[in-house]
Amino acid sequence: MSQDKLYRYLFEQADVRGEIVQLEQSYQQVLAAKAYPDAVARLLGEMLAATSLLTAILKFEGEIAVQLQGSGPVKLVAVNGNHNQQLRAIARWEGDPEGDLKQMVGQGQLVITITPDEGERYQGIVGLEQATLAGCLEQYFAQSEQLKTRLWLHTDALHAVGMLLQALPDSGKDQEVEFEHLESLTDTIKAEELFSLDAKQVLHRLYHQEELRLFDPTEVSFKCGCSRERSLAALSTLPREDLESVLEEQGQIALHCDYCGADYRFDRIDIEALWAGSAGSSAQSH
Ligand SMILES: [Zn+2]
Repeated sequence: MSQDKLYRYLFEQADVRGEIVQLEQSYQQVLAAKAYPDAVARLLGEMLAATSLLTAILKFEGEIAVQLQGSGPVKLVAVNGNHNQQLRAIARWEGDPEGDLKQMVGQGQLVITITPDEGERYQGIVGLEQATLAGCLEQYFAQSEQLKTRLWLHTDALHAVGMLLQALPDSGKDQEVEFEHLESLTDTIKAEELFSLDAKQVLHRLYHQEELRLFDPTEVSFKCGCSRERSLAALSTLPREDLESVLEEQGQIALHCDYCGADYRFDRIDIEALWAGSAGSSAQSH
């Protein structure tokens, strides 16, 4: 399998584009940060694969945040990424959630926020009316871009994979028939095949009778942007008396990153250096 790569392709005859993403290592790195219940882990995997597909199809340079927000046992699943296909993710839940998207997330919404390096922030919101994440995203594209889009998302304990088909805008061709044809071909792929076969094998198996232009793949990776410096910067925005009382009670201030599991600890010397405005140098010395 083409580990942690995203391929884009184009059916030139049909004016339909496609993508396939297969994640393993990045998915495992996300799961390593926390003891996620199985069903939450699987949903995280779907969100990771979906965010990778979206990032490639929405074409922007900057940051993307894809969030499932709900009132069910799963309150939040959030994936942050960028146009370099660097992803990180967290989830918040209660108990041991299981079942389909509705049962886990309940009433809620899918929020997609794109913050380009240049230009205005854009946010799209779609209610969770479909039984699957793929269904919700299809609805999102129908609403926001008015483009016929299909997604396939599958996860197991080790793999998070996804495929996408989207009709190109303003095509003069008989796109609907072509799209349905490609859709029915793609429907024949099994999750197990997406987990075990190389992307090129999958594409050959599905589309060997089609004229397909395949672009060079993009690496997808897990990357958490947290650091000791950023944690200190966050602390510097808090009231002194709050930090003071934590130091008195616990002798240190401990911060935990939910995205990657990193722990940062600061003692009185660090914090006083921060207040003195010389955080960077002295904080590194132990
Ligand atoms: Zn982190």
